[in-house]
Amino acid sequence: MRARARINRKKALAVAIILLLLAIITILLLINRSSDQQAARPEVPEASIEPEAPPIITEEFTIPAGKTITELLAPAGFSASRVIEIREATMKVYDLARIPAGQKIRLLRQGESYTAFQLDLDPERYLEVDLTQSPPSASIKSHPVTRQLVLVEGIIKDSLIAAVNQAGEQDLLALMMAEIFGWVIDFYVDLRQDDSFRLLVEKKYINGQFSGYGPILAARFVNKNQVFEAYRYTFPDSGKADYFEAGGGSLRKEFLKSPLRYARITSRFSSSRLHPIRKIYRPHYGIDYAAPIGTPVQATADGVVTFAGWNGAAGRMVRIRHKNAYETMYLHLKSLAAGIKTGARVEGGQVIGYVGSSGESTGPHLDYRLLYHGKYVNPLSWKFQPAEPLPPRYQPDFEQKVRVLQMLLLFPATYF
Ligand SMILES: [Zn+2]
Repeated sequence: MRARARINRKKALAVAIILLLLAIITILLLINRSSDQQAARPEVPEASIEPEAPPIITEEFTIPAGKTITELLAPAGFSASRVIEIREATMKVYDLARIPAGQKIRLLRQGESYTAFQLDLDPERYLEVDLTQSPPSASIKSHPVTRQLVLVEGIIKDSLIAAVNQAGEQDLLALMMAEIFGWVIDFYVDLRQDDSFRLLVEKKYINGQFSGYGPILAARFVNKNQVFEAYRYTFPDSGKADYFEAGGGSLRKEFLKSPLRYARITSRFSSSRLHPIRKIYRPHYGIDYAAPIGTPVQATADGVVTFAGWNGAAGRMVRIRHKNAYETMYLHLKSLAAGIKTGARVEGGQVIGYVGSSGESTGPHLDYRLLYHGKYVNPLSWKFQPAEPLPPRYQPDFEQKVRVLQMLLLFPATYF
């Protein structure tokens, strides 16, 4: 019994010694390591440790109408001379004297001093003035944009715009669709109840907020039971993009169906019509589109302006010569678009003027005329040729991309 007790004491003593040894070794190791660290840590003189930079605080406010930049910045402690300095620095990229009311200004402050100010120019771009430099430097920057592919579908009950709004999208998307199909569908004359559409479009977001549409990548429009498809193809060499049918045929025809995206026809092509002012029967070799004053008028095909200006009963008008012996005329305009004068080159879809009621006219409307070999023809019934199809060398690449887009167009909208 005694012997066993002695053995146990010996065991306990041994364990205690081992534990003690372990503790000593651990402590030594710890000391060693910290001294290593001490040794490794460069000697930093106390004075140069950078205090942590204070956080950047953003003060944002909306520009009220009628306020100058000096008045806006005064409450933030900017002197008039400092504001002049800032204005001069920004003049190269933006004239601060023309700051738009309603836009947002952000002042970035770090500690007591303002380091920068930002002025939104549009949903995507903003002017930034770096105030830490003297003189301050200004540049135009873009907010980071996220893009999301969305499928939008709808059925026409009333108008294309109403159907697009019904699908939760903005009017602009309807106009973008009208632009793509505007060579094959007149969205005013041809549209029918229960026509339908499906399209894939990129939507852009800034800070989670919808900021605008990117391009429509693919669209399918059923008009009077006829299916029209459009696939966007970007030419790998030029980076230019255009729309083609699945087989590579061009969506473009020689001429757009209408010089206005959205307008009601009030008078058609006729060899004998009662003239609204002179009350006599005369030929009316044009199509009258009623639209609000100022509605943009687009050239219906590429060409050269042969006349732009005032012309008697026609009022302010534009005449364009196109290839293949075609000419078009746009009468009773309120004004011409910038750069529209004799000799100017225009592209199909380009805005050339604005709807008015100049000359012999009883109300705001556009009188649109088409001539072929110098003779008036009816633009609504004339058979136009399709434009050039996709050049064969792009076909394989195009087909590959179309296959993907066609598949996506079949997906339910909820999938996106
Ligand atoms: Zn007319």
